[in-house]
Amino acid sequence: MKRTQAKRKARPRARRPPNATDIAAARILDLLETAHPEAECALHHKNPFELLTATILSAQCTDRRVNEVTPALFARYPDAASLAGAHTATLESLIRSTGFFRAKAKSLIGCAKALHKEHGGIVPRTIDELVKLPGIGRKTANVVIGHAYGVNEGIAVDTHVRRVANRLGLVREEDPVKIEPQLMAIIPRERWTRTTDLLIFHGRKICHAQRPACGRCPVFAQCAFDGKQARALAAASEARA
Ligand code: SF4
Repeated sequence: MKRTQAKRKARPRARRPPNATDIAAARILDLLETAHPEAECALHHKNPFELLTATILSAQCTDRRVNEVTPALFARYPDAASLAGAHTATLESLIRSTGFFRAKAKSLIGCAKALHKEHGGIVPRTIDELVKLPGIGRKTANVVIGHAYGVNEGIAVDTHVRRVANRLGLVREEDPVKIEPQLMAIIPRERWTRTTDLLIFHGRKICHAQRPACGRCPVFAQCAFDGKQARALAAASEARA
């Protein structure tokens, strides 16, 4: 017994081969990349400041509605200095249709003031700096640095990422805070921002919350969702009727 243990200890440590989950994640991302090459951040922006502003507005709101609002908003407040000095009532009227407009106006002005005062109006490039700004959480910070700067520091987990990652079997977890590191552990860093784009796009176009279109899903064979066969069959019989 002792000899066996000694032998085991003496053996050089093997490099851990990719486990099934790493391989599954890579295969799924490859397939989604092929199926959804147009998947990208849907918020219209021309610079990091605009993306940060649009991302704050996108909370509890569709990207389409945000894109309707931002042209007038950015024309009036093109940078952190101008937004920091915004009149609250004027700003609220511009963003009213995005919902929660009072809280969002407060966050926008607070964030712009901090950006102007502490960062010279430049949007920071790290999550640690971004989450210190008023109204900015880790999800927003990930979206901004990933798309504005091409920096992969984490994976933004929204409701689509949470749902699709669970159905695909990439995670078994409902808490976004715990989902992010689990995805980061099985997906190479260079794919982190793209992972968010692909899972969100797939969630919006095919893997809907209520009626996922499993019958036309490019990752059907890889998916771990129990109801995928039933959904595909139901859709096929609906199409025949
Ligand atoms: S097979 Fe169905 S549940 Fe699975 S990812 Fe595709 S659409 Fe979603």
